[in-house]
Amino acid sequence: MTNLTGKTALVTGASRGIGRAAALALAKAGAQVIVHYGNAQKEADAVVKEIIAAGGRAQKVAADLGKPHGAHELARQVRDIVGDRLDILIANAGISKAASIEELTVDDFDQLFAVNVRAPYFLVQQLLPTLCKGSTIIFTSSLVARAVAGSLSAYAATKGAVDTLVKHFAAALGERGIRVNAVAPGVVDTDMSNFTKTEEGRDRALSMQALKRLATPEDIADAMVFLASDKARWMTGETMRVDGGSKL
Ligand code: NAD
Repeated sequence: MTNLTGKTALVTGASRGIGRAAALALAKAGAQVIVHYGNAQKEADAVVKEIIAAGGRAQKVAADLGKPHGAHELARQVRDIVGDRLDILIANAGISKAASIEELTVDDFDQLFAVNVRAPYFLVQQLLPTLCKGSTIIFTSSLVARAVAGSLSAYAATKGAVDTLVKHFAAALGERGIRVNAVAPGVVDTDMSNFTKTEEGRDRALSMQALKRLATPEDIADAMVFLASDKARWMTGETMRVDGGSKL
């Protein structure tokens, strides 16, 4: 089993879905986890309680990552908690929007890029003083950055931007011993993919995949824990597909 004892981790958007599963998995591996949430305080409390009940260490922090200085506000709180060292940063919080080219509005576009690209960019910038040799950053990309699925062009473009940042950040931060990677899930059974709640939507998802079941948040969280661990010590600048063989 992966051992992250003594490590501190921040997971954004950890009140539900993939972020929640990542927070629980990191804590199970021994890390102290900072559980970030937007406005779902009750759910974030429940994640913290679950970690503590299992003998782990966790606390919650709130910040709206859609606001221009949301990432700065989050980083300030995180620095107060971790001092001068954060080992694992999982930039997971994200929003999606299914809309045709004709339907998408300027506000939709700006909000998608604000939460999915601007916030992780400035979160890394603002947390850089706490990232040291051996620290690792994990972004959350998507299958749709490399393949077309649904009417998700603007959302897909945000994830394409994330893949680009992975390479540039990895190149810039390698000298300091900081690794930067991303996971790219396909369809995962979370609130974001609520189309899978219908039989037709579920069939559509499975028809894209080699493995014939819906991904769970834990399927993605385990890959994040791997990337965060020393087992992935020679991986950086990589977007790792974790999608059950989608759109092969
Ligand atoms: P989700 O909707 O269940 O969770 C998203 C999380 O992000 C929530 O905790 C939410 O509170 C947080 N968040 C959203 N906007 C925020 C804001 N303005 N401020 C602070 N927090 C905010 O979705 P999920 O499936 O768990 O998604 C997690 C990540 O995985 C996202 O980046 C998403 O793009 C990516 N992803 C999801 C799928 C999928 O099929 N579910 C596929 C590929 C990639």
